[in-house]
Amino acid sequence: VCTREPRVLLPQLRAAGSIFLGAPSSVVFGDYITGANHVLPTAGLARAYSGLSTLDFVRWVTYQELTPAAAARLAAPTATLASAEGLPAHATAARLRATHSDSETPHARRTPRRAAYRAIAPYDPGRLPCATDLSDNTNLFGAAPSIRKVLHEHDDASITRYPSVYAPKLKQAIATLLHVAPENISTGCGSDDVIDSVIRAFCEPRDRVAYPEPTFGMVPVFARMNATVPAPVPLDADFALAADPLLALRARITYLCRPNNPSGTQFARADVLRICEDAAGIVLIDEAYADFAGEELATYAATSQRTIVLRTMSKAFGMAGLRVGLAIGPRDLIEEIEKSRGPYKVNALAEQAALAVLNHDRAWVDARIAEVRQNRDRLTHELDARGVRTWPSRANFVLAGVGFDASIWNRELRARGVAVRPFADLPGAGECLRISIGPWPMIERFLSAFDEVGRQYGTRSE
Ligand code: PMP
Repeated sequence: VCTREPRVLLPQLRAAGSIFLGAPSSVVFGDYITGANHVLPTAGLARAYSGLSTLDFVRWVTYQELTPAAAARLAAPTATLASAEGLPAHATAARLRATHSDSETPHARRTPRRAAYRAIAPYDPGRLPCATDLSDNTNLFGAAPSIRKVLHEHDDASITRYPSVYAPKLKQAIATLLHVAPENISTGCGSDDVIDSVIRAFCEPRDRVAYPEPTFGMVPVFARMNATVPAPVPLDADFALAADPLLALRARITYLCRPNNPSGTQFARADVLRICEDAAGIVLIDEAYADFAGEELATYAATSQRTIVLRTMSKAFGMAGLRVGLAIGPRDLIEEIEKSRGPYKVNALAEQAALAVLNHDRAWVDARIAEVRQNRDRLTHELDARGVRTWPSRANFVLAGVGFDASIWNRELRARGVAVRPFADLPGAGECLRISIGPWPMIERFLSAFDEVGRQYGTRSE
């Protein structure tokens, strides 16, 4: 892999014998002198090698990464071995790495960085501006009236002074809504931030964060950001939860998204509760879309042993730009999250806006939720009528299986002013598009663009 940041691509390379990272890491070193090796004589190993170990049942991939200085040192002996074998091009490949001076070291290599961060790339959801944007599952009906009022009428202090340290008024309002105590609640700068705080609060480096796959794509990223190990477990057919393999991992944190993103499907409550009761570590249930499902586990979490539920004000409450997320759980766990979260995470205007919508605009929110559900069922029906495969969604989006390359659909729909979220080769579903639900005229624009592209390429569903 000869890119500037080869490690970033490493998690995506799954079918390989050995992967060579960076220009100094010539494959020829692997042939003769580093890592996995296919030339060394076996010296009768078969006589000594006996008994199976667990490694015999695991598919593993090695990677090899040489610093420029190491490549320079290994160049001569590697070239000697290659020449002896009669492979002059191999020898040349090794010798090409023979010179190295510090001044040639790329800047990135000299910068002190955490090893765990080499495999992390900045988040890129591919969200270029688009006339009809159905790509991010936010509230597409505009801001609630009470929020507009807060933003027009705020005083200078909410800009010039620090906000409250732990957002106590917001905690109280959520506590009243969910019939739990304020001590059962922690807040954050979006639920993204809360996921990060939860991992930081409970995991040591190298602990496992388990989750079903496919699910919310930021979970493995937050796991890596905290030097923990992402442990995905494939979902069963039709995105059903595979509880036993998840439990068997005995992970420090088991993350479940309910309803699940990107499938929109709802894991059976009994399966989720079984995981909550039997898991070895913390169970983190992401209810970002639970407002649209009409079923939740936040109240259960407050009296549980080890379950934490995540909520966000980015979706049903229409506040993604203001960034407010929440954790609900037993008091002793919430106390730990408050420590790892740090102060001032909810900004002053965001807290005021959240309070306004919770206190004055519940009816507005409920009406939007009802409209989303209605339009979600209507879109599902329209797609079914076109022979497109969908999965029963309990969220504010619908996943549709498309018969060919999701990236082509994405490009063609965008060319017609409509953005959705493409998923290439989604495990268990193939090429898919995820369509956020908004007012029906937006969905109509999607459908007419979809039909146009379908006429050009065909809409065969897999
Ligand atoms: N969880 C899930 C399942 C999501 O889909 C999202 C947003 N895409 C988030 C969490 C993060 O939301 P926020 O940080 O805006 O609260």
